[in-house]
Amino acid sequence: MKYCPECGQPVEQRVPEGDTLPRHVCTACSAIHYHNPKIVVGCVPEHEGRILLCRRAIEPRRGYWTIPAGFMENDETLQQAAARESREEALADVRIGSLLAIVHVLHAHQVHVMFRAELPEPRFGVGVESLEVELVEPAAIPWHDIAFPSVRYALERYLADRRSGVAGLHFHAIDRRWPQSSD
Ligand code: ZN
Repeated sequence: MKYCPECGQPVEQRVPEGDTLPRHVCTACSAIHYHNPKIVVGCVPEHEGRILLCRRAIEPRRGYWTIPAGFMENDETLQQAAARESREEALADVRIGSLLAIVHVLHAHQVHVMFRAELPEPRFGVGVESLEVELVEPAAIPWHDIAFPSVRYALERYLADRRSGVAGLHFHAIDRRWPQSSD
């Protein structure tokens, strides 16, 4: 941020009185502009053992496969956001189930919240943000062409839980700046 969204004057980076971190502070109106993580919501829709995957038509990671997911909007719940992304990207009406995973994507300043979901009918299509949408057998998941580490993590945990019969809630942190990610 270079200019204040309130008044258009330049901002500077400094620690406001009583705060502990540097913030963007307007040099004219003194407004403090906080930057906090954004929430990305997704789900793993299943229909009779197969998983609904979308191939991205947009950057980043165009051409790679993902589960339906995207930025949460104001005035919606996590579950509504997950269902909306499934409608937009896969033209699919899913029933959102239990919470599957929370992935902290620290370098991107994002928190990814992933749900289990059921696709009651095998009805879906290719949304404007997708190149292809398919119901994929777990053995046919294109692991080398998955768009994001958080999506890979959600799919891995989803399938492991399905094998064990225990629907867990999984926490994970990813930071490109770390040598290794950790649970
Ligand atoms: Zn200002």
